[in-house]
Amino acid sequence: MAFEGLAERLQGTLQKIKGKGKISEADVKEMMREVRYALLEADVNLKVVKEFVKNVSDRAVGQDVMKSLTPGQQVVKIVKDELTELMGGEQSQISFSTRPPTVIMMVGLQGAGKTTTTGKLANVLRKKYNKKPLLVAADIYRPAAVQQLQTIGKQLSLPVFALGTDISPVEIVKQAIEQAKEEHHDVVIIDTAGRLHIDETLMQELKDIRAIKEPDEVFLVVDAMTGQDAVNVANNFNEAIGITGVVLTKLDGDTRGGAALSIRSVTQKPIKFVGMGEKMDALEPFHPERMASRILGMGDMMSLIEKAQANVDEERAKELEEKFRTQSFTFDDFLEQIGQVKQMGPLDEILKMLPGAGKIKGLENAKVDEKQMDRVEAIIYSMTTQEKTTPEILNGPRKKRIAKGSGTSIQDINRLLKQFEDMKKMMKQMTNMQQKGKKKMKMP
Ligand code: GDP
Repeated sequence: MAFEGLAERLQGTLQKIKGKGKISEADVKEMMREVRYALLEADVNLKVVKEFVKNVSDRAVGQDVMKSLTPGQQVVKIVKDELTELMGGEQSQISFSTRPPTVIMMVGLQGAGKTTTTGKLANVLRKKYNKKPLLVAADIYRPAAVQQLQTIGKQLSLPVFALGTDISPVEIVKQAIEQAKEEHHDVVIIDTAGRLHIDETLMQELKDIRAIKEPDEVFLVVDAMTGQDAVNVANNFNEAIGITGVVLTKLDGDTRGGAALSIRSVTQKPIKFVGMGEKMDALEPFHPERMASRILGMGDMMSLIEKAQANVDEERAKELEEKFRTQSFTFDDFLEQIGQVKQMGPLDEILKMLPGAGKIKGLENAKVDEKQMDRVEAIIYSMTTQEKTTPEILNGPRKKRIAKGSGTSIQDINRLLKQFEDMKKMMKQMTNMQQKGKKKMKMP
């Protein structure tokens, strides 16, 4: 997971100071030495580390902290505040033009994830902002970049403007903007060319594209895995063409976190989104405060709740509640629930968003057995409709048939039946409790 080493070190350090009823300047100094070390090891820019350490130290040795009743906790809060501030403070929003189409230019080095992010961003704009985006294939140099964008467009059912690779990017963008106006697209997202390294020709081309119609956003796409290098790239692009924000990709990998913690402070440009995977729905808005919480092991309940809400259909949730209440919950409903949980993403990632999850020994290595869920699904798929609604009829021969059909064992089936029964019992108790309002619930 991203930030693993940093999170572990910071949490360890803060744990030591948290419970202290009295803190001396020496304590703060000692703690800050460890914090400094943790940040440097996470590949955070040296200048940024120095400033961070100074800011926290200044505040932590202040009279109001030292004399307070809970100085340890105050210090932890200061670290969290400063970490949040470092990553940009408030969540940064997208600027849309008051005279559509809004033009968003995607820039970055080759392999950073520009083309993929162009698709993901269009998907977010359509889903969350109700926009009608037009994607523009202006990377005519990287082999198959145009085709890649077209494939993404098809996958998302979004239009892609492409004129092949023989026409200049400037001409392509001009025509794309014209077409967007004619066809009433309110956002144009331009996938520009990248290079392996920054060079003059590329920067000139980007400036020429910029000059066609002042873009509302210029998003630099950088690979979080490249650490400090990402910060240098951001600086260079910003100086040469001016960027308005950063999209940090591959944060699902095991990046040490340096880029996420340094970019804002070095470039003064906000991280707007983070890429959390290769799939088209794996782009999330960047929330500095939530990220700080996660790094410090305070969990990220907000993101968890949003993830859950995004996958729940309210009408359906009400129906299910009614089914729980009336004890008519079936294996089909169970299957649907499993599907929803799966949609939220890899379970071990979800677990790590829970507050205090970092402190649970072994969780960092926990691989939730998703195969187990697959087995459960396979078993339910092998049941007949009648078996799904009235599992009481599952006798020996039926279980044998299902085990064979799902590639599982009779024990697997018995275990599932037991779980299902337990769940029903628990629901019964919960509804009873709700009705009576006071009776205590016994967890099976
Ligand atoms: P471009 O050269 O900048 O256009 O890069 P691409 O969009 O072709 O992406 C390069 C590779 O990075 C592809 O294999 C993408 O699937 C992958 N990629 C992009 N964003 C992410 C991300 O957020 N997480 C992961 N794991 N892979 C990503």
